[in-house]
Amino acid sequence: MTTRTLGQAIARVVADDNCSGCGACTQLGAGITMQLDARGYLRPRLAPGAGGEPQSSFPDVCPGVRVRPNAEGGRVHPTMGTHVAAWRAWATAPDVRHRGSSGGTLTALSAWLLESGRARSVASAAADPEDPRRTRSLPVVDRAGALACAGSRYAPACSAALPVGAGEAFVGKPCEASATRALHAGQGASAPLILSFFCAGTPSQHATDDLAAELAAGQPIADLWYRGRGWPGQFTVEREGGTTASITYDESWGKRLGPTTQWRCKICVDGIGDSADVVAADLWETDVRGYPTFAAADGCSALIARTERGRQTVLEAVRAGVLAVEEIDMDRLAAVQPLQVQRRTTLFGRLLGVRLAGRRVPDYRGFGLARWALKSPRAAVRALRGSWRRTRRARTALSVEADGPRS
Ligand SMILES: Cc1cc2nc3c(=O)[nH]c(=O)nc-3n(C[C@H](O)[C@H](O)[C@H](O)COP(=O)(O)OP(=O)(O)OC[C@H]3O[C@@H](n4cnc5c(N)ncnc54)[C@H](O)[C@@H]3O)c2cc1C
Ligand code: SF4
Repeated sequence: MTTRTLGQAIARVVADDNCSGCGACTQLGAGITMQLDARGYLRPRLAPGAGGEPQSSFPDVCPGVRVRPNAEGGRVHPTMGTHVAAWRAWATAPDVRHRGSSGGTLTALSAWLLESGRARSVASAAADPEDPRRTRSLPVVDRAGALACAGSRYAPACSAALPVGAGEAFVGKPCEASATRALHAGQGASAPLILSFFCAGTPSQHATDDLAAELAAGQPIADLWYRGRGWPGQFTVEREGGTTASITYDESWGKRLGPTTQWRCKICVDGIGDSADVVAADLWETDVRGYPTFAAADGCSALIARTERGRQTVLEAVRAGVLAVEEIDMDRLAAVQPLQVQRRTTLFGRLLGVRLAGRRVPDYRGFGLARWALKSPRAAVRALRGSWRRTRRARTALSVEADGPRS
């Protein structure tokens, strides 16, 4: 049996580049903080002398070591995951729907959980008021706080570093959701309610900084948002004085932010928030090939209840008049999420390629990945070859890269 210390276990995940930057390990020992590394990704940093305790629950919590399917969930859709119910959904309050990333559903749920006394606080993420290019994770305690967190932020954030407990709720990326669920394993109804969203990965902070510098054109930045305030909305910099400059969602995500996504996200088994009680996604309109058009419209989310607790929460929010919902079939959602479907169905081959190239990958047992490879062996071999080649190239690049904080 391995007897690693927490510090050694964290160092191994970081050295393998399997860290997602979720922040959960900061809750497992004293003297661990999250800081941006030279590439613009959040990584744990240990103070001198920290991390000497046994790793204990770290392998179960850290999504860079292992991820498991939602053990408390219902039926399993082959690509869209565990579910007990699914809806097309939007916030009924026009300001929340407008401000939200798609239908404003997570903001509506957060605000309602707080206002109805179902949660004392909701762990969320928002622009840092002192430097709006950066994203800060924080507990919100009222509707105004929840509204300030509306909208996706395509940059590093580590909401799983926030301690949440009984009577509190959590919103975060799938890796943060799975770490948070593992931190509260076995607590049943007293575990925090976990909300999440589909995620294609975390881009580098540098991509935001570079884009912000171009749009700010030398002037101080008062606010920065990636989308929302319309669906999908635009990447926008508001300069001090109130003028704004924007580029489209398609261009900002597709050409500037998305290409800088960190390694761990490229080999993620769970871009769909399988560990959550409730997960939101974009319910895009699509072209004839099934690819999202990103045409401007009133925001709409898909909401999936992955657990019975999640289903009850959504139905109560509907009864309270906070959310409008129409039931949908999981296949309809899969049809407008080609990236998530492609990632899941080719992952077995890609992981094998990475391993054959000499790199460790997280343990994803239980997701049935091998079944996809058996269904489409040719595609699996293609994925294996491609990822073997890319991994060899990346390893060479990594071995010459120096690591250190960037201010
Ligand atoms: C990194 C990233 C990748 C995404 N990839 C996909 C994808 O592949 N497919 C897809 O359908 N949708 C993707 N989304 C968008 C997401 O699915 C939508 O935000 C979702 O539809 C929820 O919409 P909403 O209007 O209900 O959320 P809102 O009401 O706008 O609420 C968003 C919530 O997310 C939290 N949040 C925002 N950014 C972060 C962050 N970086 N880390 C932690 N918490 C955050 C906020 O605190 C807020 O509570 C991504 C979002 C992000 C941040
Ligand atoms: S993935 Fe999360 S828990 Fe694991 S080392 Fe990185 S920050 Fe820590």
